[in-house]
Amino acid sequence: MFESLSDKILGSVKKLRGQATISESNIEEAIKEIRMSLLEADVNFKVVKNFIDRVKAKAIGAEVIKNVNPGQMFTKIVHDELVQTLGGDKVDVNVRENPSVIMMVGLQGAGKTTSTAKLGLYLRQKLGKKVGFVPADIYRPAAIEQLQILAKQNGFSCFSSTTEMKPEDILTQALAWAKKEMIDVLLLDTAGRLQIDDELMKELEDLKQVITPTEILLVADAMLGQQAVSVAETFHQRLGLTGLVLTKVDGDARGGAALSIREMTGIPIKFMGVGEKVSALEVFHPDRLAGRILD
Ligand code: GDP
Repeated sequence: MFESLSDKILGSVKKLRGQATISESNIEEAIKEIRMSLLEADVNFKVVKNFIDRVKAKAIGAEVIKNVNPGQMFTKIVHDELVQTLGGDKVDVNVRENPSVIMMVGLQGAGKTTSTAKLGLYLRQKLGKKVGFVPADIYRPAAIEQLQILAKQNGFSCFSSTTEMKPEDILTQALAWAKKEMIDVLLLDTAGRLQIDDELMKELEDLKQVITPTEILLVADAMLGQQAVSVAETFHQRLGLTGLVLTKVDGDARGGAALSIREMTGIPIKFMGVGEKVSALEVFHPDRLAGRILD
């Protein structure tokens, strides 16, 4: 069994020997453990440094409450700072307009199509919305077909896009279709590439001109670790992302990507993909992930 980070912290905070406040030397060892653990989880070194500076600023000089173990007190400071770094409170998905358009963007293989289906299920089950899927990856017939199959399997309507249509025309026609079908939320599955390229960004910008989406969600693969940060930064610069769906978090138990992305870009993480099934989507709760990082 691996010792958890919180156990390491608890074990390494030095006894206070009659002192009433936490000093730098009390937490030196614990800080080392935190630094190592975050770097091992592939958290960006600048993020680690800033995080540790903030923890130190809060901990050093803090009065130790009587009868409270200083190790526990320090662990709580670390936990609270992790929660803040991950965004504080959960951020809800915005589906106020009717129909709302949620644009799903991201690199190929990140889990965009799967996440579209997952989000559809969430919106229907939790928010009672009527959801329609709109495939807009006209370069890959297989991608259109994949979304159509997911729609059929899960009882969703899917707009009949074809590879001959332009993405903007797909969206315009899908909007008319949504009104006719009384659909509340359109989930637009856009084209992905293996790498970011200008042509793709231009296409996504053009789609944004057709209608202002209520959400532009970047689907990013947590397994990419720090690389996911630069992907998020580029998409954010060009499109103004409103949120993130972090996928494959089931393979990134240490939560490194979430910490780096949130701290470096400020984009709220709204959902986490935790498996391949359509039901494997969780609303992102900063405190839960902070707990997992410490456990
Ligand atoms: P797209 O190219 O971005 O549309 O990616 P896909 O939706 O086709 O997903 C690519 C692969 O990642 C598929 O094999 C999915 O089953 C898998 N996948 C997507 N999300 C998750 C997730 O949260 N966890 C795991 N383990 N696999 C996922």
